[in-house]
Parts: sequence; structure tokens; C-alpha cells
Amino acid sequence: MSETLIKARNLSVGFRIGSGFFGKSILKAVDHVSVDIEKGSFFGLVGESGSGKTTLGRALLKAVPITGGTAHYMDGEVDYDLTTLAGAELKDYRKRAQLIFQDPYAALSPRMTVRDIIAEPLEVMGLTKTREETDARVREIAAKCRLNLEHLRRFPHAFSGGQRQRISIARALVSGPQFIVADESVAALDVSIQADVLNLLKQIQRDLKITFLFISHDLSVVAHTCDHVAVMYLGRLVESAPTRQLFAAPRHPYTKALFSAIPSLDPDDRGRAQKLQGEIPSPTNQPSGCKFHTRCPYAIDRCKKDEPELVNPGDGHEVACHRWAELLAEETA
Ligand code: SF4
Repeated sequence: MSETLIKARNLSVGFRIGSGFFGKSILKAVDHVSVDIEKGSFFGLVGESGSGKTTLGRALLKAVPITGGTAHYMDGEVDYDLTTLAGAELKDYRKRAQLIFQDPYAALSPRMTVRDIIAEPLEVMGLTKTREETDARVREIAAKCRLNLEHLRRFPHAFSGGQRQRISIARALVSGPQFIVADESVAALDVSIQADVLNLLKQIQRDLKITFLFISHDLSVVAHTCDHVAVMYLGRLVESAPTRQLFAAPRHPYTKALFSAIPSLDPDDRGRAQKLQGEIPSPTNQPSGCKFHTRCPYAIDRCKKDEPELVNPGDGHEVACHRWAELLAEETA
């Protein structure tokens, strides 16, 4: 039976922006998100830029404050409430939950050797007692990330983008985490290198039984990597399902529009692309009702007034749309 590692209910993250009494407003980056991330899974989170996916990932790492709802990290005897976690428990959570950054060029200090970059979390968290112990752990993790011992003496500028990302992955792994947020971790890489890094992440997931939250705007990458995919729009989850189910029959009009924008080699498919109209609205001035109604070709009056809840019709394929069943029936008629 699958176990839940991360459980969030109505999780919200808001930022106060502007200054002065009348100028202040709240930017709702994440708005009442409920999600379960199963232990050992590769959980994909997709959406356009500005959808709140990065903020959700950081909230689950306790890198930004959670301003509403609940979030728990549960592993065996451990049950951490991420809204109140502090002190020794927060220190322990920092070992258990790590981030792989998007940009392998900016993420690594040019003044440190690869050995020192990978060793830094061990030293900062006090996880090793001697230099020999640190070096042994660095070598073990470097080998897992397919880095040579020779590489450990060099500086980051000597490496290609793919190699630098493997150094970033090694640094994230060195503290022995159970949960890793990979935020657009292959977006800055050439397509040929992306596959290599994705294969490495999948192998790490299998070998070390690590749970990944894989954040991406690229659905084709998510399709080949993730076990489960959740789609975000303007801070809300609009659809969530096992990857095969979601890709076989997406239910939300936003997900369908994202899917149709995936480049296809089939010339018949290209004409069918249902382009997303307009821009994602500003998070400081969100539409009423369904947040997607300003861009949705199927919007009706109800959509402008009532915000749809994320519901599970019983098959594990959750969707937040008033008309999903009706639109599905039309499609299959
Ligand atoms: Fe479109 Fe209405 Fe469904 Fe929102 S609730 S996605 S506006 S049909």
C-alpha cells in the first residue's frame, strides 16, 4: 500500500506587496492547494510561468512562509507540521528535504572546488565529524551522480551544463534527503543533455527511494518522467491524476490547451492545436469565479461567479471545472 510523504490541505502562500496604507495588497501565489505526494513517487507539477508552482515547492521546503492551511511531512514515526516547524525539528527537516535549482550556472560558487561544493551541506549541518568522513561521503555521492574523482578537484567553470547539474544534484543528495524539489532542473539544458539528467534523477529515485516533486513547464518532459501530474493555474490546482490517465484524457480546458501546445511530428495534429488565448492574469488582481474563465473557450455565466472545487469523481482523476463531465460527453459522442 502506498504511503503519503507530503500531505497539504488548503495550503496558501500570500505576499504583502506595495507600501502605504492604501497601496498594500496581497499577492496570492498559492491559493488553497490540497495535495498528497506518495512516498517514493516522482510527482510532476506543471503550469505556465506565474502559476505558483515554484512557490508551492518552496513552501513545502519551508523556504517561504505558509500563510494558510496545513502541510505535513510524514515519514515513519516522524510527522512534521510544516506550518509551525522550528528549532531542532526544522534543522532535521533541512536534511530530509532538499532543492535542485534550475540554473546550474548560477547555483554553483565559482570560487569553490566541486569537492567543497558537495561537502558544504555536510559541514553546515554538522553531519560528519572528520575530513576523512566528509571526503568519503562526497566520493560516494559523486560516484552516484556519475562524476569522476578527478572532477572533485576542479572548479565549476571547467564543466558543461549537464555536468554542473550533476554537481548540483550531488550537493542536494549528500545530506541523505527523503524529499527533493527539482525546480525546472533540466530547463536550462540542451535537449540532448536533458535526457541524461532525467535518467539520472529517475535512477536516484529508484535506487535511493527518494520522493521527487518535479516542477516543469514542459509537459513532454513530465510525461516521460513522472508517476503523477498536478496542473496549476494562478495559484490553484486545476487537475491532478496519474500521468497515464492525465495524458490519455485530460479533463480541464487549461490542461487540454497546454497539451495541444506540445509540438507534434504528425502534420494532422498541428492544425488541431488549441492555442491559449491571452496572458495569465495578475495574481494581485485575480478574476472572480473560475480563475481560468477569462481565457476559457467553454466559459458560461456560472464560471464567472462560482469558483469550482477540485473534485475526485471516484477514479483518482481530480478536476476543478464546472463543465468537465459535459465537455467529456460531447467529445466522446
Ligand atoms: Fe472553463 Fe468554466 Fe471549466 Fe473554468 S469552470 S475551466 S471557465 S468551463
